[in-house]
Formats: sequence, C-alpha cells, structure tokens
Amino acid sequence: MEKENNSDNKTRRTFVERGLKAGLLTIASGALLAKVFGKSENKKSEETIELMSTDGTLLQVPLSAVEHTHEKKSNYNPREGFPNRKFVMVVDLAKCRNARKCQSSCNKNHYITGENAWIKIYKMQDNEKSAPYWQPTLCQHCDEPPCVKVCPVDATFKRRDGIVLIDNNRCIGCRFCMAACPYSVRIFNWAEPWQGETAEHTHYSPDYAGVPSQKGTVDKCDFCPHMIDKGELPHCVSACPNDVFSFGDMYEDTVANGSGQSFKLSKLLKDRAGYRLMENLGTQPSVYYLPPSDRVVDFEEGLKNYTEFKSVDKPEGV
Ligand code: SF4
Repeated sequence: MEKENNSDNKTRRTFVERGLKAGLLTIASGALLAKVFGKSENKKSEETIELMSTDGTLLQVPLSAVEHTHEKKSNYNPREGFPNRKFVMVVDLAKCRNARKCQSSCNKNHYITGENAWIKIYKMQDNEKSAPYWQPTLCQHCDEPPCVKVCPVDATFKRRDGIVLIDNNRCIGCRFCMAACPYSVRIFNWAEPWQGETAEHTHYSPDYAGVPSQKGTVDKCDFCPHMIDKGELPHCVSACPNDVFSFGDMYEDTVANGSGQSFKLSKLLKDRAGYRLMENLGTQPSVYYLPPSDRVVDFEEGLKNYTEFKSVDKPEGV
C-alpha cells in the first residue's frame, strides 16, 4: 500500500510524532486540544507547538499557554483512568492485509503467546458474492460493557477514560465475563502463562501491560494505558505497517495512526461511513470500523503474511 505523501500530511505527521513523544497536554482555555512535545520546563516559554483546533486547523501556539491535564503520579487511580479523556480506536478494514504485526507486537509487549492473543484477525465475507476481507478484532472497550455487569467480584471495570480493564488479583476465573462478551475477545489462562524474563520481575498493576498474567484468570486487550501514560500510541497502532489503526481522544475529536497522520474523528467516520460492531446490542463500543470499500491492497496478499506470522510469532519452547 502506498501511504499518502503530501506536505499537509507531513506537517500533521510531525505534529503527531511530537505529541506522542510527549504526553497528553491541552491548552488551558480548553478551546483547543492537542498533543505536544515533552520539553524541559526551562525551555517552555521560548517554544511554540502545533495544535489542532476542533475544526482540524493546525495552529502555532506558545508552549507557555499549555498545561498538563493529567498528573498521573499524584492523583492517578488505575480504576479511574486519565482525567478528561475518552479514548477511541478506528480500524480501517480497507487497509488490512493480515500482516499481523499488530498481533505480534501486542503479544510481545504484553508477554503473551499466539494462542492467548488479545487481537484476533478474522477472515470475513459478508455474502458469497462479495469480496472477503480481514477484520482485526480486539476488546471494543464498550461504554455499556456486559462483561463488567456480570463480574461477581468487581474484577473487571470500566474507567472514566473509556478503558475496560481486568484486575487479575481479584479475578476468580468464573468466566462469566467471557460468556457475556458478544465479541468473544476475552481469553482464559488455562495454563501458567508464558511471561518472559522481564515480566517475572514486573510489579503487577491492572493497567500496566497486563503482566504478570495469572493462571486461572481472564485477559484481554487493555488499550495499552502504560503507553498512553508515556504519550505514545498503543503497540498495535504503532506496529501496523499499513496504518490500519488510528487511536486518539474522542474529546479532542482527533485520532492518529502509526505514521503520524492525524484525522478529525467525526469527519473520518462520516466520510468513510464508520460503524461499530453489533451496534444493535447497545454495548456502545469505543472501537469504530471503516468498511473495506475501495480497498488499497489485494486480499490474497494477507495469506502470504499469515504464513510468515505462524513461524515467527510464537516464542521458542512455548
Ligand atoms: Fe467487555 Fe467484550 Fe465489550 Fe470488551 S468487547 S468491554 S470484553 S463486552
């Protein structure tokens, strides 16, 4: 697939790359919302940043006019999330060629194996006369999550920033949540999960990469809050070579892909007829899909990559 390449996109790419390296900041007035570089305090008053207005216009703004909107270390609660944020993801089905880099990156960074992958890529075909397409499927981070409602021990919970998480220290493995989820995106750790050397020494927190996983408990996609906290995109978004995924803040009405292109969320969904899976169920997912129309890659290309995935994704000895 050829990525768009014009000066406007280049500007936007720079803007987003800056933002993703920095942490999430917003201008004090609240009229404009943006992501910006992380810069040392003594340079703050000298520099300007690019901010995107709510109509999608890029503006130069003094960095001194910007303030942090979340101070995670002082008041952050893993069960509450990042204040004043509502995270969303957009998945462009027209671009997916089943490269599975999203899946392998997610697996690697959450210390999970292929069998327990949090992202599944399904071959879809709406009817026998239509073309097949690939659909990456992960936790939809529903605003009305049936999984949360059925958990008897409050182990799975919905945060104010839209992220649904699991506290594996509370999970008793009843799997009611798996039965309740209409998207079949939760997995159960039947055996002692492969953690890798790093994970064995990681202090557990339900919002930190899901490690260490625990036998007899449920896992699923967590939208990578540990990456958001660093001002970076979730692993799947950054890893996709085809820019299938975009991620951002619904309150900013902006999402960004792994190449640094940013989009006005509402316009993107309107122009491309964005939809959510099983909307009739009332689960209100935070993941939107763009239909596989005007596809930019041949479907068959994915099959080749699928073979490559099987040989490299699973860690040795697992
Ligand atoms: Fe829960 Fe399933 Fe919705 Fe994720 S997709 S929030 S696991 S119901």
